[in-house]
Amino acid sequence: MTRYGADEPAVDVDPAFRRTFQDRVVRWYRRSGRDLPWRSLTSPYQVAVSEILLQQTQAARVAPVFEEFVARWPSVQDLHQATLEDVKALTDPMGYHIRGTWLKEMARIVVEQHGGRMPATLEALRELPGLGPYAAAAVYVFGLRRRAALLDTNIARVLTRAVGLPAEGSVYRDNRRLRDLAEQLVPARRHYDYHQGLMDLGATVCLSRSPRCGRCPLRRVCRAVAGGPPAAFWNEKGVVMAAERTVGYRVGSRAAVSPTPEAARRQPPG
Ligand code: SF4
Repeated sequence: MTRYGADEPAVDVDPAFRRTFQDRVVRWYRRSGRDLPWRSLTSPYQVAVSEILLQQTQAARVAPVFEEFVARWPSVQDLHQATLEDVKALTDPMGYHIRGTWLKEMARIVVEQHGGRMPATLEALRELPGLGPYAAAAVYVFGLRRRAALLDTNIARVLTRAVGLPAEGSVYRDNRRLRDLAEQLVPARRHYDYHQGLMDLGATVCLSRSPRCGRCPLRRVCRAVAGGPPAAFWNEKGVVMAAERTVGYRVGSRAAVSPTPEAARRQPPG
């Protein structure tokens, strides 16, 4: 268990809650997940292409560009032989023009330094142009089918609401408690469907301002629903609010997560 300091209790997820949470996310994804062209990819290269194209751009805009991209350059060797002008002609109309350069440079490094195969470690993936910590982890999980915790804005919002975890005003990427929570909740198996399910829930159900709790598979276990208006647990800047809502919140006889220091001080003794 990770400790964060005398005043900062660790995140400690109840095992029964963890199993229920994982099962509900996975079952919902298999029944109701979105049909997106990069789903079920088995090529780490194509997953990396999808992650770079998805940066700063909505999935609906990326989908037709991604399909044309992998039809023209299905392998990293094909992309390495393409011209930068041809790549940018396809990707630049979506904006964020640096992407074409990243994709070409990624292909060059993979071909020249990794024998034409995407590297198989998180550390090496993070060294590739265009792959930050999240995108590298996505290639690791979705392309290489390895276990790691993914954390983007949508996933962070679902997790923090579901367990009622306040992020104490910091941006989620820098919040160690939130990263610890994400790592504890990743299942040993089925982590591909689990992460795709979390992303779809965040994108289509657990919306920032108006979560659709009535159609959410987590509604019976969600702490935000029990604690008050779920939107109060998250605002659009990615900062969790209303720490006091976690006071005394319980799953059965155990707290789902340790309360915040603020909440702990307010809890009655015993
Ligand atoms: S029940 Fe509502 S607040 Fe909780 S995870 Fe689902 S949509 Fe989000």
